[in-house]
Amino acid sequence: MKRLFLTSFSLVFAALCLQAVEAREVKPTERVTTAVIVRQGPSTNTAVLSRLRPGEAAEVIDEVPGWYHVRLADGTDGYVSKTWTNEVAEAGAGESLVQPSNYKIHVIDVGTGLAVFVESKNFALLYDAGSQDDLHDGDENRVVAYIHAVRPDLRRLDHVILSHPHKDHVQLMPDVFRVFDVKNVWDSGRVNNTDGYCHFLKAIAGEPGVTYHDAIASNQTRSVSFSGSGCSGTVVLHEGEKMTAAPVALGIGASMSMLWRNASNFADPNGNSIVVRLDLGGNRVLLAGDAEGGERKSPSTPPDANSIEGTLLGCCRAELKADALVVGHHGSLTSSRNAFIDAVGARIFVISSGPHPYRSVRLPDEEIVQALKQRGEVFRTDIDDDACGANTHKIGPDNDEDPGGCDNVVIRIDGSAISAQYNRSAD
Ligand SMILES: [Zn+2]
Ligand SMILES: [Zn+2]
Repeated sequence: MKRLFLTSFSLVFAALCLQAVEAREVKPTERVTTAVIVRQGPSTNTAVLSRLRPGEAAEVIDEVPGWYHVRLADGTDGYVSKTWTNEVAEAGAGESLVQPSNYKIHVIDVGTGLAVFVESKNFALLYDAGSQDDLHDGDENRVVAYIHAVRPDLRRLDHVILSHPHKDHVQLMPDVFRVFDVKNVWDSGRVNNTDGYCHFLKAIAGEPGVTYHDAIASNQTRSVSFSGSGCSGTVVLHEGEKMTAAPVALGIGASMSMLWRNASNFADPNGNSIVVRLDLGGNRVLLAGDAEGGERKSPSTPPDANSIEGTLLGCCRAELKADALVVGHHGSLTSSRNAFIDAVGARIFVISSGPHPYRSVRLPDEEIVQALKQRGEVFRTDIDDDACGANTHKIGPDNDEDPGGCDNVVIRIDGSAISAQYNRSAD
């Protein structure tokens, strides 16, 4: 079912666009309705070579009083009047030189668990693919079905990230590798001797052309042995570049930063949750996985210093700033301490949860929901779970009697604007 999908074209296109970001550019001012004349020299007495139209940009080679010496996209060298052109602000100053891109972050209603699909024209990314209560595979896999419903053209996932090796995050992963060409996998490297994580590593090992990254080492070979009843044997992994704090380019104007990446053998794998900040155009989205602030306590309690929330507040407070937050650990009282949420400063919060209890607690906890509501809009994937099982309009497999599928949440970034809404009927 897999197809090669414009791989080399996409890379060349991305490379060209990234080069453009480095250069100085001018564009017609807002007063220009038709075009700016491009002349042979810095004078209106020289010949007309071409025209620069609204929306087009030209690279600045040099400048003289009153004129920019520019090169057009087709290679034409000429001069444009400074009266009719503006230099575009430098990248990194808060504005991208390229046209604002649109991005969508889908928090897929997988039932009890988490799966976040991020898409743009130039890349696609999946952060987790798991569920505790919807374990269908093949065409019934809700993650695959959802991506097919919203992006029927998609064949390639540039990045697949597993936040941590718990069932409710990993279980639906193998189909993702079967259906899509996966180019990069990011996994802390913390081994959980479960069938779900074993199937995940085997899917990676069997994926042609994939690069596997962990938080352990670069360019080494690791062997991981499993002894589960449903998945066993030794998986050999070749590590690519080790995860670092440095941003990973995703596409035009987009990058991701792994704020927390740690392969230590924490007693609870939630401590391994890769916390990712997506920088998409002028907006940021923070994906917290099951990152915690400590034991179950009131949100007003400061996070433990050695927890993920506590550590990030201590080392990297400014890095946490984001416009939207996919809330940690399904809205549990173990996470989302006020100090952490306030450092993030988001106005959009998405909680992914379902009916399956965690150690007898059904998440999210109401105190967390209320704390978030005081700070912004709250979206939840678990609203209609009881009625959702037989809903024929839900996204993904219809009428499968399993919860999930009714309350998918989409965060949209259109240029500088960010908003969120439910996506309840895409098929
Ligand atoms: Zn979880
Ligand atoms: Zn977990």
